[in-house]
Amino acid sequence: MKTTTSQALFAEAQRLIPGGVNSPVRACKSVGCDPRFIRRASGSKIYDVDGNEYIDFVCSWGPMILGHNYPAIMEAIRQTMADGTSFGAPCPQEVELAELVTGALPSVDMVRFVSSGTEATMSAVRLARGYTGRKVIVKFDGCYHGHADSFLVKAGSGVITLGIPGSPGVPEDIVRNTVSIPYNNEEILEKTLRDASLDIACVIVEPVAGNMGVVPPAQGFLAKLRALTSELGIVLIFDEVITGFRVSYGGAQQKFGIMPDLTCLGKIIGGGLPVGAYGGKREIMSLISPVGPVYQAGTLSGNPLAMAAGAATLKALQAPGFYEKLETKATAFAAGLQQLADKYLGEATLNRQGSVMTLFFGPGPITDFDSAMKADANLYGKFYRSMLDLGIYLAPSQFEAMFLSSAHSDEDLARTLEMTERSFKKLQN
Ligand SMILES: *Cc1c(COP(=O)(O)O)cnc(C)c1O
Repeated sequence: MKTTTSQALFAEAQRLIPGGVNSPVRACKSVGCDPRFIRRASGSKIYDVDGNEYIDFVCSWGPMILGHNYPAIMEAIRQTMADGTSFGAPCPQEVELAELVTGALPSVDMVRFVSSGTEATMSAVRLARGYTGRKVIVKFDGCYHGHADSFLVKAGSGVITLGIPGSPGVPEDIVRNTVSIPYNNEEILEKTLRDASLDIACVIVEPVAGNMGVVPPAQGFLAKLRALTSELGIVLIFDEVITGFRVSYGGAQQKFGIMPDLTCLGKIIGGGLPVGAYGGKREIMSLISPVGPVYQAGTLSGNPLAMAAGAATLKALQAPGFYEKLETKATAFAAGLQQLADKYLGEATLNRQGSVMTLFFGPGPITDFDSAMKADANLYGKFYRSMLDLGIYLAPSQFEAMFLSSAHSDEDLARTLEMTERSFKKLQN
């Protein structure tokens, strides 16, 4: 496979941009190769600057649930763009997307749009603290909530991938107010939340963890979390930046029947443009400026192009049977992967929730950060490089998810399984 143009660009990028990338995992360090620079994408495929074609399972880390270059989204962007790109004033597209989001999520009476998932979680926590007058955030080991200071304690995603325990530059005084506990452990959860010496404002959780690889919630875990936080007057924040409009139209909260107090969204609701959002009960959301005293703002917030792309996406996702079809496809594909893993790898664990999944190269069950960390990231790196050379574009880290879109055809998936088998055979030698 020719990669000289990517190599040249990467060399130049490294001179100009730290690590040559604008988000760390993209540098492909943990899988031991250099990144491919992508020129264009269409449907289930992406194409690099050397003209190589790949079946894409990163899907921009989740947003492209309809595949790349989806006609209705592109048309919505084009039409909106013809009238200008940003006004710094209210626009009708914000109201349309707000109607779609509040319509999809019964726990969300009001929503505020921002420009990234990081902004959404950061603002939701500020709001929870403002609402309760308390300080401490409880999060779970291996969950990722963007890169705001308070969350960089035992965080997932690139923070694991690069083996950074937290991050320099985050003062102790800030992380002192963050408590991180194991995912899926009801006992430690209850003990922590009932600890009267802590002044807990909120619990923030990925209702299906996706940033230590996919780790679904254990039976009853989210219900216990809801019961305890309600009893103790703690704000429960679901970070549905991945799961929103992914594991069902109404997100994980619909899937598991749990109503959080606040919800963070991103990824899919921007249809591939930069967006985030946080929303929830009217009583809490009414504390945000300009109605209330909790400050939060954004120059490009509610950007018309992003709002239009998001609205077009959500409307497409309302097609009857959309999630059922995706689930059927994902089930069959996951079964195929599992079968191959059993045959060639012995110890491998496939975790899945709907159309997001992770094949861990290690023993199961994988229910939390510690069990996920037992996976063989080195072996995954070898697998990754083999798949890349065979035209399959996977997440460049063991501890990330594989995303399926409605654009992945049965043919794409059959081909992916074929290449998986080839790669597994190679790993055996
Ligand atoms: C991606 C992600 C974020 C951060 O979103 P950005 O748009 O990258 O800032 C937050 N939470 C979760 C669960 C995510 O997967």
